[in-house]
Amino acid sequence: MGTTYQRVLLKLSGEALMGELAYGIDPSVVQSIALEVAEVVKAGVEVAIVVGGGNIFRGVKGAAAGMDRATADYIGMIATVMNCLTLQDSLERENVPTRVQSAITMQEVAEPYIRRRAIRHLEKKRVVIFGAGSGNPFFTTDTTAALRAAEIDAEVIFKATKVDGIYDADPKKHPGARRFQSLTYSHVLTHDLQVMDSTAIALCKDNNIPIVVFDLTVSGNVRRAVMGESIGTIVGGSHEVI
Ligand code: UDP
Repeated sequence: MGTTYQRVLLKLSGEALMGELAYGIDPSVVQSIALEVAEVVKAGVEVAIVVGGGNIFRGVKGAAAGMDRATADYIGMIATVMNCLTLQDSLERENVPTRVQSAITMQEVAEPYIRRRAIRHLEKKRVVIFGAGSGNPFFTTDTTAALRAAEIDAEVIFKATKVDGIYDADPKKHPGARRFQSLTYSHVLTHDLQVMDSTAIALCKDNNIPIVVFDLTVSGNVRRAVMGESIGTIVGGSHEVI
C-alpha cells in the first residue's frame, strides 16, 4: 500500500492497553494493537511508540495520597516499562522485530535510550518502543512523545484515544458538539483543550510536528491514520476547520 508517512510516532496511553479492565493489561487488547502496528510496519512505515503507564500507576495520584511526587513519578515511569515489554512481546509474536529503549537504565530488560541507535533501528524497520517516559519526574509520556518525535525526526504523532477526535464541546454532554478536522496549536493551548498537556503541545508547536488524534478502538484505524485518511483531528493546521 502507498503510505503518506514514512516515520511516525504512535502515542499509546497506558489505558489503551487496559481494554475494559479496571486496572492493568488486557493481553488480547495489546495483541490487537500489535496486529495493526504490524500491518503498517510490513507496508514499510518506520514506527516508534511511546507508551504511558496510567493503567498501572500515575505519579499525581501517588502524590495526592501523600507520597513524595518525584518518587511517585519514578514509579509511574517504571510502570511504563511493563507496558513496553508487553507490547514488544505481542509485536514479536506478529513477527515484527522490536527494541525497547528505556530512559531509566534497566539493561537486563531493555536497551538504554540512545537516540542514534533508535534511528538506526527504525531505518532497519524495527519498531522502537520508548519506555520510562523522559526519565524525568514532573513530565508526562505525552511530553515524552513530543520530545522523542522531535529527536528522531518523526513526521507526525498519532495520539491514540478512545474518541474520534477533538470536539468544540464535550460530545457526551452536548449532542450537537462538532468535531474539528483541523486545529492550530495556539487554539488548543488558549482553549486548554485536553488533547495532550500544554508542555507537549508547545514542544510540537516549536518543532512543527502535527498531532493526529484518532480513535484506537476502531479496528483498522492505525492503518487509516498512516495512510493519511482523515479519521480524526489534526493539530498543527494554519486555522480551525470543523
Ligand atoms: N512520568 C514521569 N516522567 C515522564 C513520563 C511519565 O514522571 O517523562 C510518570 C508520571 O508519574 C506519569 C506516569 O509516569 O503519571 C505514567 O505516565 P502517563 O501518566 O503519561 O501515562 P498515560 O496517561 O499515557 O497512560
